[in-house]
Amino acid sequence: MFDVIVIGAGPAGMTAALYASRSNLSVLLLERGAPGGQLNNTAEVENYPGFDRIMGPDLADKMFRPLEKFGAKHAYGIVNELKDLGDYKEIVTDSEVYQGKTVIIATGCEHRHLGVKGETEFAGRGVSYCAVCDGAFFRSKKLLVIGGGDSAVEEALFLTQFASEVVVVHRRDELRAQKVIQERAFANPKISFMWDSFVEEIIGNQMMMTGAKIRNVKTDECHEETADGMFIYVGLDPLTEAFKNTGITNEDGWILTDELMRTNIPGVYAVGDVREKHLRQITTAVGDGSIAGQQVFNYLEEQKDK
Ligand SMILES: Cc1cc2nc3c(=O)[nH]c(=O)nc-3n(C[C@H](O)[C@H](O)[C@H](O)COP(=O)(O)OP(=O)(O)OC[C@H]3O[C@@H](n4cnc5c(N)ncnc54)[C@H](O)[C@@H]3O)c2cc1C
Repeated sequence: MFDVIVIGAGPAGMTAALYASRSNLSVLLLERGAPGGQLNNTAEVENYPGFDRIMGPDLADKMFRPLEKFGAKHAYGIVNELKDLGDYKEIVTDSEVYQGKTVIIATGCEHRHLGVKGETEFAGRGVSYCAVCDGAFFRSKKLLVIGGGDSAVEEALFLTQFASEVVVVHRRDELRAQKVIQERAFANPKISFMWDSFVEEIIGNQMMMTGAKIRNVKTDECHEETADGMFIYVGLDPLTEAFKNTGITNEDGWILTDELMRTNIPGVYAVGDVREKHLRQITTAVGDGSIAGQQVFNYLEEQKDK
């Protein structure tokens, strides 16, 4: 039986494992792929303190290496279920069942994709899902933002700091974003709107995307819009399928915690992008991870006194 089982080896899970193992707890870190999480799909990170600029996989490697030194175990596994058995929890993977006195869930989330031609090809070469991460690479450039909800419009506003022009492409004739955010966007001279429209294909050359084929849903006309970059905000999905029957998620699947990262099951914590939260970044993920990694120690000490 482990003191702590951490599910997911992204920045949040690796930090939780670091803090827990440095508290001398026995830690198992379970991951379904390569350690690093979304860092493995990130070319350059410019907003992680301490580094002017670092490649995502390099940062992942720097986070992962110290874990072994402090005795944290790492195993491959796709977690399918968490069973709360009171004093301990069972984690069921595709090939094993593990037992832990506490569990830290750090499974992250996935950006919804448009699923159009060119999206995979130009990801990281003009196509992005994170304005905070990549906006600064597009100074004085023309950008397309896809979507009409809060995230799309907020990020379009954020991008006007860098871009010369931001065109919001939305498949309806009105935005879903909160009114106050809409008003800010309508008043911003750098933002324009392409209503009733969707991206049919992202086009480009061997280096970068250069634009998109955009179709109007009402007229069925298709035209090519030139652009240097595209930010896609058509939704995020939490990776919480394995926990949906535990009652720790909200109706959209995000895990609810308090500020100590506790879920409503004693001994079960959640950290990083998988939580219901406002800013999903590496800094906030490691912040969550450190809090939970420390909290499991306190929780286990309290259990001893009972
Ligand atoms: C392209 C891109 C660029 C980005 N650039 C930046 C940037 O410049 N700066 C910044 O601060 N942030 C950036 N971000 C956001 C940042 O990467 C995330 O906020 C951060 O990685 C979240 O960390 P996490 O540990 O919560 O989740 P993740 O990094 O998503 O890690 C979750 C891990 O859990 C694993 N997992 C999921 N389900 C299971 C399961 N059932 N069983 C086992 N393992 C599972 C996954 O394989 C994954 O490794 C970027 C994101 C993307 C996609």
